[in-house]
Amino acid sequence: MGVSLASDARLASIRGRVPTVTTLCSHSSLQIFHGARAEGLPTLGISVGEPPRFYDAFPLARPDRFLSVPKVKDLPHVADRLRREGAILIPHGSFVEYLGAETFATLDVPVFGNRAVLGWESDRRKEREWLESAGVTMPKRFETAEEVDGPVIVKYYGAKGGKGFFLAKNREALADFRPTGPYVIQEYVLGTRYYMHFFYSPLSDRGYRVGHGSIELLGMDRRDEANIDELYKLGAQEELLKAGIRPTFVVTGNVPVVLRESLLPKSFDVAARIIERSIELFGGMVGPFCVEGIMTEDLQFKVFEISTRIVAGTNLFISGSSYSDMVAPGLSMGRRIAQEIKRGEAEGRLSEILS
Ligand code: ATP
Repeated sequence: MGVSLASDARLASIRGRVPTVTTLCSHSSLQIFHGARAEGLPTLGISVGEPPRFYDAFPLARPDRFLSVPKVKDLPHVADRLRREGAILIPHGSFVEYLGAETFATLDVPVFGNRAVLGWESDRRKEREWLESAGVTMPKRFETAEEVDGPVIVKYYGAKGGKGFFLAKNREALADFRPTGPYVIQEYVLGTRYYMHFFYSPLSDRGYRVGHGSIELLGMDRRDEANIDELYKLGAQEELLKAGIRPTFVVTGNVPVVLRESLLPKSFDVAARIIERSIELFGGMVGPFCVEGIMTEDLQFKVFEISTRIVAGTNLFISGSSYSDMVAPGLSMGRRIAQEIKRGEAEGRLSEILS
């Protein structure tokens, strides 16, 4: 039996009924609705203004119903309505970023996963404390510009899709940086990026055992990032700057990748450590998470970030991936979420996967 994350009061709105898989119409919502539908669960799409028309083009991923709000920030005002609908909110990157991690954490509607994770992920210093205390290697962090001894990347807090990041070849180049919010200075790691899509199930009693349950690897991608990709990352920077172009990491798409098979043990080890430590720190991270890191030429894996929910890179694998096909045929992350909800309900263990 795992950790109970939700009180009876929090789960009252879904007791004794089929829960409704609910999310904000953006990011990975098609996959989330598609997966829920495949598992026979009802779906509700929260739209800002009119429901987006693109759902009409994808009948198998169109939510059964829509709930329109003027702004995402208005969601707390419709919490009552969401409870009446029997909603379980599925967090994704845009949902949490637009609503704000703090508001999300206090919303009185059942949420898939442990919302305590938001406080650890949205603050880059706390995220580092979590990962480093789990024994995960991260890019070096510099407290001050004076300490910088090589190329660095300066990042703001929160999931901003790499927006506004600043690259500096060396300490001198860092002098041009003008902060516009809380930031961290990190070693710029040279290597190949991998974004590994894991799922932690505290309900599972088989597979790659971690904590009370097990982890599954369902896919892997690399992001297409405008305008930095690929070769020009540091070298062409000065030329670009002369032309008035600042390098950015705005994500414009994703490509599927697989890891050298001999590196898979390393990737599972990292994921397992992150989960084990999350259980000690705040009762565990449940459901989808993405380990985002860079493999260096000496095969060291440095994790620059984890996303503690479904990432958009999983959209590549709506009909399965090279990894998920070996877990179950045609298994997407969206469908895996729906399966976990169904299992939690059937076994009377929803309090272990919802908060
Ligand atoms: P998201 O939340 O969408 O993942 P973010 O704003 O939190 O984005 P990061 O994921 O930390 O930003 O970084 C954005 C991009 O910057 C990465 O995808 C990667 O290409 C690059 N990057 C981040 N950290 C490093 C690093 N230490 N060395 C080299 N490149 C890095």
